[in-house]
Amino acid sequence: DYCVLGSDIVKRYGNKKVINELDIHVPKHSIYGLIGPNGAGKSTLLKAIMNLIPIDGGDLQVLGNAAGMGMRELERTGSLIEYPCFYDSLSGKENLHIHSKYMGYHNKKRIDEILDLVDLTKEADKKVENYSMGMRQRLAIARAIMVMPELLILDEPINALDPDGIKKMRELFIHLNEKMGTTIIISSHILSEMDCLATDIGIMNEGRLLEEKALKEIHKEN
Ligand code: ADP
Ligand code: ADP
Repeated sequence: DYCVLGSDIVKRYGNKKVINELDIHVPKHSIYGLIGPNGAGKSTLLKAIMNLIPIDGGDLQVLGNAAGMGMRELERTGSLIEYPCFYDSLSGKENLHIHSKYMGYHNKKRIDEILDLVDLTKEADKKVENYSMGMRQRLAIARAIMVMPELLILDEPINALDPDGIKKMRELFIHLNEKMGTTIIISSHILSEMDCLATDIGIMNEGRLLEEKALKEIHKEN
């Protein structure tokens, strides 16, 4: 059973095939690490999965629906882009209130639960402009999981975090995956970041997925 299933996906910018006849299989309830150097096409692939950009060829199914999906599937998906924006002069909690109202999902109790989940309860009433990078990332995750997504897409979420921030972030992803069954796709250019985190790995280069494996198989080989 797959959460994301793609075959022969092509995405062009001008004449360049940024995604080049790529196949991808993301098992349901996995933590799928999408690994590749800068420029490999990871962000482009994630944007296609989120349906933010159209693909030029191939077949892409997300949550059982073909790409070109409507709002309903998008609402079952949470995502995190590299540089999340907030109302910096408002508090973290106020930002979540605004977002959840906008999403038609307003629930005070849930906001408090999520703040606790991402370990921001103590800082909830501080202005976001005073947040560290790690706190901003955790707030972005809080925003993304507000709708309790079945699929969470994270583009380089570990970039620019300190070791303590990275540790908290991993714990949070594992919690979401184990306790809520959320399928998580997480991109990175560093394979070792996926240790003790990913269940599955896809290695990407020059617009192709070179291989897809369970993380434990990769460890056996080395
Ligand atoms: P990664 O996330 O692995 O670093 P990207 O998906 O961001 O890779 O980029 C893959 C390639 O596609 C790069 O060569 C990048 O410059 C190019 N690219 C990405 N977005 C666009 C765009 N909107 N227009 C033109 N080229 C793009
Ligand atoms: P990432 O690799 O994380 O996507 P980039 O710095 O490559 O980060 O891309 C940042 C933004 O610029 C993305 O939205 C991408 O689509 C766009 N972009 C990247 N390369 C190009 C390009 N050659 N032409 C136009 N837009 C681009």
